[in-house]
Amino acid sequence: MEESSTSSTVQVQSRRGRGYYFPDATDEQWTDWRWQFRHRITSLDELLRFLHIPEDERAARREVLRDFRMGITPYYLSLIDADDPDDPILRQVVPLQDEVYNREVGVEDPLGEEAYSPVPGITHRYPDRVLMVISNSCAIYCRYCTRKRIMYEDAVPDIEIDRMVDYIARTPQVRDVVVSGGDPLNNSTPKLERILSKLRAIPHLEIIRIGTRVPVALPQRIDDELCEMLQKYHPLWINVHFNHPREVTPEAARACDKLSRAGVPLNNQSVLLKGVNDDVPTMKALVHGLMRMRVRPYYLYQCDPVRGSEHLRTTVGKGLELIEGLRGHTSGLAIPTFVIDAPGGGGKIPVTPDYLQSYDPVAGRAVVRNFQKKVFVYDDPRPVSSAEWKAAHGAGANGNGNGNGNGHANGNGNGNGHGNGNGHAPATDLEGRPIVGKSTWVHRGHQAPAPTNRLPTVDRIDGGGNGDGR
Ligand SMILES: *Cc1c(COP(=O)(O)O)cnc(C)c1O
Ligand code: SF4
Repeated sequence: MEESSTSSTVQVQSRRGRGYYFPDATDEQWTDWRWQFRHRITSLDELLRFLHIPEDERAARREVLRDFRMGITPYYLSLIDADDPDDPILRQVVPLQDEVYNREVGVEDPLGEEAYSPVPGITHRYPDRVLMVISNSCAIYCRYCTRKRIMYEDAVPDIEIDRMVDYIARTPQVRDVVVSGGDPLNNSTPKLERILSKLRAIPHLEIIRIGTRVPVALPQRIDDELCEMLQKYHPLWINVHFNHPREVTPEAARACDKLSRAGVPLNNQSVLLKGVNDDVPTMKALVHGLMRMRVRPYYLYQCDPVRGSEHLRTTVGKGLELIEGLRGHTSGLAIPTFVIDAPGGGGKIPVTPDYLQSYDPVAGRAVVRNFQKKVFVYDDPRPVSSAEWKAAHGAGANGNGNGNGNGHANGNGNGNGHGNGNGHAPATDLEGRPIVGKSTWVHRGHQAPAPTNRLPTVDRIDGGGNGDGR
């Protein structure tokens, strides 16, 4: 039921949708990404034509746009409910009064990307992969963006891109590049192709990934020309960035479908945002919407403490609560890894609820709990050695006498009459027994007593578990 109330797309009854904001746009205009791009709302005065903003907030909100620009495509604007000042789509792209108050809170470069940068535009933090920033602009500007600091209107100069490519070419341990920005798809298709073809020419570079919010903000940009180009550079992966179920629209689904059909696997990276997606029903509706578009939820990021976004951050506990609300309650495939990107540049660190309650590697025992908080004990492997087995069975010539000989003889013997030794009960039936297409497990289970020197078996702690544990 939460799904139907939150994941529906443009609704006619409320003040939103293309018909409300852009009644005069023709289909041709609306589906043309150039038209969408040109008609982006970039100033508060333009925004006032579409949304109500209290008079006494306007000056401050206008002022904050000097720190970080605004950009909203008509398509993305159409997802906003004009009657809701706390609308989750609006919160992502419209500067709020809170942004003014939090202007001085936070840092420019929360992930220390500059510090790990061997050449401008490259961040090389992990051994085998690099981040490559090829664009200084986006289709929309998200108020919480970690890379606010780089968003200028100018394109990244070719010479800088060549230096980035050159770094990767002379760094053989790099087998994976994350092409990001800004938004890489803000480049023209020919320019993007020039970059991809240079990267593809590097023999040790195995995979290319593109991080983009275009399928969310400007899905019209995912056209045939782009898809035909992209599929020449496989293995190519794309990470998209959906945050709210209302972003899962027919247009977005069409864009994702086109990319999938071009052979590009799609993964989603969401940012956990206060008042946007910080409750279980919304997050569940989002991941279900993604799965329906064949997009795999990959990461859920704790929001970085970037300057001016304090009001959009929430607690680590909230993220844990969301994961807890998904795991076990919906398809495992739909559950992202919740990560904190370590401040200052430690990389992404997964954070999980306490499913592993304790683990003693010496005793070889883990205590785990499931999504219903029932507790189970799991033992590490402890294979029976031949010495243990012999001791338990009475080593020596009569060790095979405990009746296992006959058991096997009739179990197997009538299957294929293997050899001539039907009733022979050979001395080592564990080693030399004939294998037929039938398990002998039942017999062995009956006959082999458990070795005596193993850890005692504890089935459960709280008594609430059941026998099948998996
Ligand atoms: C996120 C990131 C990557 C890619 O990380 P994965 O966990 O492999 O997706 C690589 N380099 C930098 C600097 C990053 O921030
Ligand atoms: S689309 Fe991505 S890079 Fe661009 S402003 Fe939003 S979060 Fe930042």
